[in-house]
Amino acid sequence: MSAKQSHDFDLFVIGAGSGGVRASRIASAHGAKVAVAEEFRVGGTCVIRGCVPKKLLVYGAHFAEDLNDAAMFGWDVPVKRFDWPVLRDNVLAEVTRLESAYTDTLSNHEVTIFHERATVAGPNMVRLASGKIVTAGKILIATGARPALPEIAGVEHSITSNEVFLLESLPKRIVIVGGGYIANEFAGIFLEFGSQVTLVNRSDVMLRHYDQQIVDRLIQISVKKGIDFRFNALVDRIDKKDGRLQVSMTGCDDIVADAVLFATGRVPNVEELGLDGAGVALNDKGAIKVDADNRSSIDSIFAVGDVTDRVQLTPVAIREGQAFADTFFGNLPTRVDYDCIPSAVFSHPPLASVGMTEGQARNTLGSVKTYSSDFRAMKNVLAGRNERSLYKIVVDGATDEIVGIHMIGPDSPEILQAAAIAVKAKLKKSDFDATIALHPTMAEELVLMR
Ligand code: NDP
Repeated sequence: MSAKQSHDFDLFVIGAGSGGVRASRIASAHGAKVAVAEEFRVGGTCVIRGCVPKKLLVYGAHFAEDLNDAAMFGWDVPVKRFDWPVLRDNVLAEVTRLESAYTDTLSNHEVTIFHERATVAGPNMVRLASGKIVTAGKILIATGARPALPEIAGVEHSITSNEVFLLESLPKRIVIVGGGYIANEFAGIFLEFGSQVTLVNRSDVMLRHYDQQIVDRLIQISVKKGIDFRFNALVDRIDKKDGRLQVSMTGCDDIVADAVLFATGRVPNVEELGLDGAGVALNDKGAIKVDADNRSSIDSIFAVGDVTDRVQLTPVAIREGQAFADTFFGNLPTRVDYDCIPSAVFSHPPLASVGMTEGQARNTLGSVKTYSSDFRAMKNVLAGRNERSLYKIVVDGATDEIVGIHMIGPDSPEILQAAAIAVKAKLKKSDFDATIALHPTMAEELVLMR
């Protein structure tokens, strides 16, 4: 397929993040003439300032525990010293390498890249920052989301997940506001690096979409490790005095810190994109409203990923980008199945989940059975690390089908990815029982619960 004579491109994608890159390269592979515009760096939040650099920091942070535990395994580690700039710069270099790999992928698929901002100028028209006007048969908006910041005095003294990877030095004391993914992941990271961490949450519920028994275990372990939780607390204002931040609070005493990180959700990037003028409707959360085929209120304009605020996860944006490209350029009508999406929080230790929580199952199904295993990983026992894992299986009492698996413990996201296949395939508890344990592993607990 080539661009109809009336258009410069078959597809113009705004935003080269996870969803935009996937849609671009697949549409191109299907024969479409594709262009993508990116005002910042190719790769988007996940690659540049999200999942990838975060996971590398999680690995870096975990050495603190491994080096402590090493002694019981016979290793003498005489001096333990952490150098933040070394890790930071190595992570940033890896991000740059990946950015270039993503750029190469687009170029190899003959996708034209415009390294500038693009806005929608009409149903089939895009205006680039340079002033150039480009036309396309379809426009895909994949501009993602950005950290939400509350409107409080002194908020400009705080940082978000955008800046956290670039810190000049490690804060001795950090206040992290929020009780979601980013707050819990960075609370663990900074604590392991040696910072004094206070996590401030506006209610007494954290990670509210996760099974609360698993979340309670995370809180127990985190408190023991030294994270200072302030529940039912709000930050009112931040004042900078002599290089320190005075954080004024409601619900708890004021705190003095060297850094304040807001991790209070993300908002879709829809501003100044020309959406109003083009007639693209937003939903009540300010995200682009799309149907099951990712089509907006304008026939030729589509959107995928965080800008639609359906599920703010990279693999979901990738699936949406793939489905869009297959449907409209590959003659393979595809819709994303949002059921049973596995997810994880890379805290210390991590937690992972798929399917219904016990509460959701009780609200949805008549009878529910739960099975759990509360154990100390073998490695933790020898290390003298008093940190217990908790695995929980939620079963439909009427059918014996496993409807949810929830875990906290070392490597639980790695284990859960495989277990999620079983939940997606609607396997039964008896299928797990019939599977012989792989010993000695932590994962064997999944087939040993009776
Ligand atoms: P989350 O939605 O996970 O958590 C937001 C937290 O901030 C909640 O505890 C929320 O409280 C609280 N909050 C919201 N508004 C305010 C406010 N005005 N004042 C105080 N607290 C507030 O968002 P994150 O920012 O942690 O992450 C954004 C998204 O990015 C996630 O939802 C997730 O989709 C994605 N992500 C995924 C990761 C992964 O897969 N491992 C890692 C990092 C991010 P309440 O619960 O009361 O609303």
